[in-house]
Amino acid sequence: MSGKMAGILSCDNFSGISGNMEMLLHMIQNGKPEAYALVYGKARMDCICGNVLLYPLWGGTLVAAEIAGLPAKEGACGGSFLGFHIHGGEACSGTADDAFADADGHFNPAGCEHPFHAGDFPPLLENHGYALSVFYTDRFTPEEVVGRTVIIHAMADDFRTQPSGNSGMKIACGKIMSA
Ligand SMILES: [Zn+2]
Repeated sequence: MSGKMAGILSCDNFSGISGNMEMLLHMIQNGKPEAYALVYGKARMDCICGNVLLYPLWGGTLVAAEIAGLPAKEGACGGSFLGFHIHGGEACSGTADDAFADADGHFNPAGCEHPFHAGDFPPLLENHGYALSVFYTDRFTPEEVVGRTVIIHAMADDFRTQPSGNSGMKIACGKIMSA
C-alpha cells in the first residue's frame, strides 16, 4: 500500500488504543454491509450454514464471517484451520465429485500466484464446528467481488502449493450478492 490511508493505524504517531476497533465494531453493529454471501454446505456437508459480510473500508474490505455446522475435530487437541477464499466462478453448482466445481479457482484478476490471489483469505478457525472471523483486506472492494463465490475447504491452506494451497475439497459455498 502506498501512502497513508486516513484513519488507518500509523506507527509514526502511535500513542495507544487507536479507537479503530471501537469504530469497526460499531460499523458491524450498525452499518449495512455493501455485499454479503449466504454460505451453505451440500450433500454430506449440508449441516454447514453461515454468512460472510463485506463492508467497504480504507479502499478495501472489512470481512466478517460467521459459520456454523463445520466438520468438528473434537478432543483436547481438536479444532481445525479450514481454507477460506473468494473464488472467481459465479455459481455454487457442481458435480458428484466436486459439489461446487462451478465456483472455479481463486479470484485472481491480477494473475498472481497463490497466496497472492486477490481472493486469498486467512483460514477459518473451527471451534466445535463454529467459526467467527473478522479481518481486513485491501486486495478488492466489496463491489468488485459481487457475483463471485465464497468457498470453505475441508483442509487448511498451506499458503504455498499452487494453485490453491492444497486445501482439499470444497465443503461450502455462497454467491456474493449486493446488499
Ligand atoms: Zn489462492
